[in-house]
Amino acid sequence: MRTIVWFRGKDLRISDHAPLRDAIRAGEVIPLFVLDPYFFAPERAQRLPHRMQFLLESLASLEKNIERLGSRLVLVEGKSTEVVPALASRWKADRVVAHRWVEPFARERDERVAAALGDRFALYEGETLLPPGTVRTGDDKPFSVYTPFARAVRRSLHVSEPEPAPKRLPALPDIEAPRAPLPTLESLGIERNPNLLEGGERAGRARLDAFVRDRLAGYASARDRLDEAGTSRLSADLKFGTVSVRTVWSRVAAADAPKEDIEKLTNELLWREFTHHTLWDRPNLLSEPFRADFQGFPWKDDAAWLEAWKSGHTGYPVVDASARQLLGEGYVHNRARMISASFLTKHLGISYKRGEAHYLAFLTDGDWAQNNSGWQWSAGCGCDAQPYFRVFNPVTQGERYDPEGGYVRRWVPELAKLPNKFIHSPWLAPPDVLRAAGVRLGETYPRPIVDHAQARERFLTTAKAHLGRDRP
Ligand SMILES: Cc1cc2nc3c(=O)[nH]c(=O)nc-3n(C[C@H](O)[C@H](O)[C@H](O)COP(=O)(O)OP(=O)(O)OC[C@H]3O[C@@H](n4cnc5c(N)ncnc54)[C@H](O)[C@@H]3O)c2cc1C
Repeated sequence: MRTIVWFRGKDLRISDHAPLRDAIRAGEVIPLFVLDPYFFAPERAQRLPHRMQFLLESLASLEKNIERLGSRLVLVEGKSTEVVPALASRWKADRVVAHRWVEPFARERDERVAAALGDRFALYEGETLLPPGTVRTGDDKPFSVYTPFARAVRRSLHVSEPEPAPKRLPALPDIEAPRAPLPTLESLGIERNPNLLEGGERAGRARLDAFVRDRLAGYASARDRLDEAGTSRLSADLKFGTVSVRTVWSRVAAADAPKEDIEKLTNELLWREFTHHTLWDRPNLLSEPFRADFQGFPWKDDAAWLEAWKSGHTGYPVVDASARQLLGEGYVHNRARMISASFLTKHLGISYKRGEAHYLAFLTDGDWAQNNSGWQWSAGCGCDAQPYFRVFNPVTQGERYDPEGGYVRRWVPELAKLPNKFIHSPWLAPPDVLRAAGVRLGETYPRPIVDHAQARERFLTTAKAHLGRDRP
C-alpha cells in the first residue's frame, strides 16, 4: 500500500499524528506539503507576516524531523485541489490521508479533492478533541451555549494516551518527486520579527513542558493578569498543530497541579473546541453575525479612528498597549483582546469584522474559528456572547488587571514614568505630574479620542434602536 500523507498546516508534527501512523503501518509513505498560492503568493503572505514566520519555521522543523526518520517532505507548488489528485495518479498512490479542517473554504477544498479521488481520500479527526458535529443537545441540535456544551464534552470525552513519534519512516518510494526548497521569509518579502515565539514541534513541546512545570499551578488566578506571563502561550502551537490538542489535554489533566488550575486550563481548551464545533455547524459565521438581529447593524466607517486603534493611539493606555503588543510580538493577552475588541466595536462603533481582519493579519495564533468567535463574543452578536449592553471600561479594566501598569509601561513607553495612579488615565493627572513624567498630552501621547461615558451611551442608543426595531 502506498499512501500520501498530506500535511496541511494545522498538523505540523510527527508525534500523535494518526494519518502518519496508519500510513507507516500500511507500507510506503510519501509525506507531502503543497505550497498553494492561495496562502503563499508573496502579496498575500506579506499580509500575514507573523503567521508566515511561524508556519515556515514549523515546516522547516517538520522537514528536519521527517529527514531524521529516513524520508523526505515533498514540497510541491500549485493549487491543492488540482495538484493532489494529479500527484496521486502520477505516483500511483492507493490513499491520500490528511486531517480534517472545519472552515467552510477548507470543506469545499476537501469536497473537490474527494470528488476527484473518491474513497482513496481519507480525512482523520484530530484538530479537535471530539469530531465536529458529534456533540449534540438532547434535541439533537448543535449547542449554542458554552457551559452545557463543555459539560456534554466532558461527559463523553476519553482522551487516550497520545501516540509517540514514530521511530522511523520508510524511505521515499522511487517516484519523480520535486526537490523544491521551502520558501524563506526573504523570498516572500517579509522581514523577520525576532519577538515572535519560535515555531516547530520541538519548540512547542518545550513550551508545553515549561508551562506544566512552572505555570500550570496558579494558572487560574494568574491568567487574567496583563502584567504576568501566566498563560500557556500554546495558541500558535494548537493553531499549527505543532503540538496536538490531545497532547496538551492529557499532559495538563495528568499534571501534579491544583484541581482548579487544571479545570480552568481544560475549560479554555473546551472554548477552543466550542468555537471549532460551532463553525462546523454554522459555516456562515465567517461572514454573518450569529445573532440575526445584528444583521445590517449601523457600524461606523471612521478611517481615522480605525487607524488610531490599529496603531495604538486611542489615548486609552491599555487599549493602545494591546494594539502595539499585536504588532510587536504577534500576540495579545486574552484579557487585552477582550478590552480592545470591546473598545473598537462599542466605544468606536466600528464593525467587528474590521477588528477580526486586523487580528487575523497580525496574530501568530490567528485562527478563523477562535478569532471570529472572540470578535463576535466581544461585539455582543456571537454564539453565547457577552451581552451587547456590557461595555468594558478600559480604565477600570486596566486598573484591575494591570494594577501596577507593567503591561502599559512595556508597550507604551512614553507613559512609563507616570505613577500607578494615572497610568491608565493620563488625562486625569495634574500638570506637574505629567511634566515630571515627561508626558505632553496631545503631543507625546494622545488625549482620548472618545469620552468613555459618551461613547458608551452612543453605542447603547444605536444598539437599542437597531435591535429593538420592528421587523417585517
Ligand atoms: C477578540 C478575540 C480574538 C481572539 N482570536 C484568537 C485567535 O485568532 N486564535 C486563538 O487561538 N485564540 C484567539 N482568541 C482566544 C484567546 O485570546 C487566545 O486563545 C489566548 O489568549 C491564547 O493565549 P494562550 O495560549 O496563552 O492561552 P491559555 O490561557 O493558555 O489557553 C490555552 C488554550 O486554550 C484556547 N483558548 C483560550 N482562550 C480561548 C478562548 N476565549 N476561545 C477559544 N479558545 C481559547 C487556546 O487554544 C489557548 O492556547 C481570541 C479572543 C478574543 C477575545
